[in-house]
Amino acid sequence: MSTSASSSIGVESANHQQAEVNDLGITAILQSVTDAALITTLSGKIVGFNRRLKEIVPKVSDAQIITDIFVLSSNSLNAACLTKVSDIVTRRSGSFPIQMTKIDADDGNKASIPSFVSTIRTPDTGLPSALLYKLDEHILRFSTRLRQMQNAKKEHAKFARQASLDAVIDPLTGLKNRRFVQSFMDLQWHGQFRKAEDSVLILFDIDHFKKINDTFGHPVGDEAIRVFANCLLSQARPTDVVGRWGGEEFVVLLTNCVSEQARVYLERVMTHIRLLRIPHEKGHLSMTASAGYCAFSQAKSVEHSFTQADKALYAAKSHGRDRYQKATD
Ligand code: GH3
Ligand code: MG
Ligand code: MG
Repeated sequence: MSTSASSSIGVESANHQQAEVNDLGITAILQSVTDAALITTLSGKIVGFNRRLKEIVPKVSDAQIITDIFVLSSNSLNAACLTKVSDIVTRRSGSFPIQMTKIDADDGNKASIPSFVSTIRTPDTGLPSALLYKLDEHILRFSTRLRQMQNAKKEHAKFARQASLDAVIDPLTGLKNRRFVQSFMDLQWHGQFRKAEDSVLILFDIDHFKKINDTFGHPVGDEAIRVFANCLLSQARPTDVVGRWGGEEFVVLLTNCVSEQARVYLERVMTHIRLLRIPHEKGHLSMTASAGYCAFSQAKSVEHSFTQADKALYAAKSHGRDRYQKATD
């Protein structure tokens, strides 16, 4: 379809509808609208549009009916009723809110544009003759910006959640990391005086781990660390803290626990460790670990409890490994 442009007013109208256009003073109407706008007959044939609309939807020049270029939708009308937009709009006074979504938007912008439809009436008879569609780009810009802000807020919350997890979680095993364990231990240390409850600190170290790496490769070593970590965790209570101290060294803080109860945990967990099997290219490997432990009530400070547990671990290693040792007072 060819169009005739009226350059002085920035309005175009379809030739074949020229007679109707003239009758309705359509050019003057479109001239008064700054937002993108188009006028159709009551049956939806496009009879005119302004320059702004053409900028947004260049295909309007070739379109016959409004539904060639827009999908119409409404919050208050169902899809079936939308085919009868004119019936509804012409029965009302004022503007009827509607959503217009560009068809085949090649700029990837599929946002529906808040719009208003109103009736143009023939001056002599007052009868409805055409429909004026005005696209409210201000609302569109506002709602697009709002959506962008909401998405940015969601992304930000996601990053913040991930960052707070990264700050306390060891990425290889998913256990608490050293930083978390340290700050938790500080809290627990001071809490013990108020609650009069003891806690037991256990340090674990996998035996001859270097050999596992050297024999089976680093990835198998990593898997061994993961499986080992899971074993410690599965044998602990939800109120205990299980963390990776670094490398193949782990820390478990048994809260509300005394040394005798810690031994029960250690017996159980050592048995499970011996039963672990890590798959590798030629079969499965097994492992053992050594542990040293110290009750808070045995120590003068958090640091002292560590030194004591570490000494006990060293003793367990030097007594042959695959065993646990209590710190000596
Ligand atoms: P011991 O019985 O005396 O503890 O002997 P060990 O071989 O376990 O001795 P050591 O603690 O010195 O060796 C720890 C090894 O763990 C050294 C290091 O290459 C390895 N390692 C540390 N971190 C990782 C890790 O994240 N993945 C793997 N695969 N290996 C690690
Ligand atoms: Mg070690
Ligand atoms: Mg080791």
